[in-house]
Amino acid sequence: MTTKKLNGTVIVTYRCNARCSMCNRYKAPSKPEEEISIETIRKLPKMYFTNITGGEPFIRTDLKDIVRELYKKSDRIVISTNGFFTDRIIDLCKEFPQVGIRISIEGLEKTNNEIRGLDNGFQRGYGTLKKLVEMGMKDVGFGMTVQDKNAPDLVPLYKLSDEMNMEFATASLHNSFYFVEAKNIIHDRPMVAQNFENLINELLKSNSPKKWFRAYFNHGLINYIYGQKRLLPCDMSFDTFFIDPYGDVMPCNGTKDKEVMGNLNTQTWEELWNSKEAEAVRKKVRCCDRDCWMIGSVSPAMHKYIWVPAWWVIKHKFLYFWKKKKYSMYENKIVRDYRDGKVTKEELDKCSTCDMKAVINDGLSDISREQLKDGSGEEIVAADIISQIGNNQNI
Ligand code: SF4
Repeated sequence: MTTKKLNGTVIVTYRCNARCSMCNRYKAPSKPEEEISIETIRKLPKMYFTNITGGEPFIRTDLKDIVRELYKKSDRIVISTNGFFTDRIIDLCKEFPQVGIRISIEGLEKTNNEIRGLDNGFQRGYGTLKKLVEMGMKDVGFGMTVQDKNAPDLVPLYKLSDEMNMEFATASLHNSFYFVEAKNIIHDRPMVAQNFENLINELLKSNSPKKWFRAYFNHGLINYIYGQKRLLPCDMSFDTFFIDPYGDVMPCNGTKDKEVMGNLNTQTWEELWNSKEAEAVRKKVRCCDRDCWMIGSVSPAMHKYIWVPAWWVIKHKFLYFWKKKKYSMYENKIVRDYRDGKVTKEELDKCSTCDMKAVINDGLSDISREQLKDGSGEEIVAADIISQIGNNQNI
């Protein structure tokens, strides 16, 4: 019997209206009829934190029902969205003012719209965030996936979020079945790391302990883009899980192929969580060498191994109080080694999960894949949205 509260991510749909350059999920949508039902959501365990994500979760017209059900079993809920469905987001926040909203904004206007492939994506996302702040929502913020193209926008975007008193969550490029992508890679590591260093120093300057721990997370991102071992162990599938639109429970969203612990449509949570299949997945996680550094797997680890980030924070915030620049990316040996020519770009590239020859697994069910015979993922989702909201929106 599972008694401990878990950390869960519910992928409510694989449908998405954005066209992000680092994620091909929009080409491989789930079929609405197959997507996780309220009955299956009722079977989830107690959670101390739940992230609702997609695809674009607000494509689902029953998202409010899902959130209502999840609040019966979760202490805190954060929804990750591209911010396109402004009216739906505002409507949901009126009923659930305690919910967290993270809108993905990939840089200032021009960069964001190029990366996300939505002409008015920045104005739409930023406008939605502003409205949420005006409504008095407390837990809202930006989410940015840092890559070569948008790294220079990192600090300006952080400052924009700070002025509006918003959260600022960062990530970097990852490859996995979830993103339907294996070719993501950072090319100019020193330039991207320099921008992370600038952000870390901004965060350390603040008076907010939460931001000091965010600084540690961003330090881990520098380590990640240089292809090094994770700074903290990965305990996904032990007290953390993901569930996909088909009810398949998985350890995380970072694996190359979909790893399944069981299916909640057909099993109870206890059967699934204590099954042989779940144990086999846990064994694989124990020797997983993908070394992801995404908030979904790092946040639980930062709580569990709190003394590691706490010591880093004490060192950088307090012991270095006399230093003008509290953090330098050259504290990382690998960054110095690359600067000093002791390691080559090719060697670092080999340490990443980028694989130009990989056969990409999209994790779709046979029924969802079948629909792609009649049209592309983009066409199917665009038609779907038009049928929901009419033809007057830029999809
Ligand atoms: S490192 Fe952890 S989060 Fe990444 S793929 Fe492996 S098990 Fe998943």
